[in-house]
Amino acid sequence: MAEPGAEPILEVRGLVKHYPLTRGVLFRKQVGAVRAVDGVDLRLERGRTLGIVGESGCGKSTLARMLVHLERPTAGEIRYKGEDITRLSGRALKAVRRNIQMVFQDPYTSLNPRMTVGDIIGEAYEIHPEAAPKGERRSRVQHLLDVVGLNPEYINRYPHQFSGGQRQRIGIARGLALRPEIIVADEPVSALDVSVQAQVINLMGRLQSEFELSYVFIAHDLSIVRHISDRVGVMYLGRIVETGSHTEIYDHPTHPYTQALLSAVPVPDPRSREHRERIILAGDVPSPTDIPSGCRFRTRCWKAREQCALEIPALAVPAGYRLTTGPTAHASACLFAEEKQVARAGAASENGPG
Ligand code: ADP
Ligand code: MG
Repeated sequence: MAEPGAEPILEVRGLVKHYPLTRGVLFRKQVGAVRAVDGVDLRLERGRTLGIVGESGCGKSTLARMLVHLERPTAGEIRYKGEDITRLSGRALKAVRRNIQMVFQDPYTSLNPRMTVGDIIGEAYEIHPEAAPKGERRSRVQHLLDVVGLNPEYINRYPHQFSGGQRQRIGIARGLALRPEIIVADEPVSALDVSVQAQVINLMGRLQSEFELSYVFIAHDLSIVRHISDRVGVMYLGRIVETGSHTEIYDHPTHPYTQALLSAVPVPDPRSREHRERIILAGDVPSPTDIPSGCRFRTRCWKAREQCALEIPALAVPAGYRLTTGPTAHASACLFAEEKQVARAGAASENGPG
């Protein structure tokens, strides 16, 4: 694992994806844009997990697709080991793509129902034949099935013969086939029963150390990434509004949006449940075609003042607030960022009994 401050394995700067909104069939005219991802900075340390959390529609999947080169950014840089990979093509791009793989959200739709499990997992070797000699592919796939906790004898079965959790294990095995360094997991457990979610998250944790993987782990809920994230980025309407270490985000959130998300996380301990205040956000998330001026969260924020409509808050360490600076700082995109004791889910167990 890297020292904090060492060169990150993946770094994103000013990443933007705007989808044009057009009108007219013959004379298509651009009338606006869906600002799905609107200026994101991220940093992933080798061997660590960066959790990305935000409500549906805030741009998480668009971000994930850009990271694995399924989609080209409108602007910005994606640096893999220091090199901007957004402009790569041909062989250089292929080599990088091999090292950054994706696990998709829905294991029911992301596995081709007409292909056997063996063909699904081994498909990557058709695209990257150099990754495994032909004669070894079958045994590699069987080994991968074993690694994700499935019987290697299932290699000739079809996706419909598996449960949701098993299917996501197949999706993970497919992601591992090329022995990548980075896995971008886009809500890998959101489509699964709650009882199965923890098993899949535990499996991913185990595979992380076994295969020395770095994860970008996406979820719509802070409770899902709680046990697997080293750092967390909270996303709102195409931007990161708060980022920090696991402890900073869960125990000392400073952005009103993070505080609201945390206040909605169930607290297992009834003692801490009594002290907490549930923050209900006003209204709905605005459309990414029509992002509010100034702070994009202000239309739902209970702290919003006049200034919030005029000034765009930078993702920065609140003035006079904490001592950490630099790329691993606890930063918050709020003009009035401050700690507020909310949620503290699991706080009692962290502080020990009594
Ligand atoms: P999330 O994964 O957080 O739910 P998405 O990245 O899927 O969010 O979507 C972010 C926004 O971008 C949404 O408003 C969505 O409708 C829009 N969007 C996503 N893909 C496209 C596309 N190909 N064309 C136009 N709009 C898109
Ligand atoms: Mg999504």
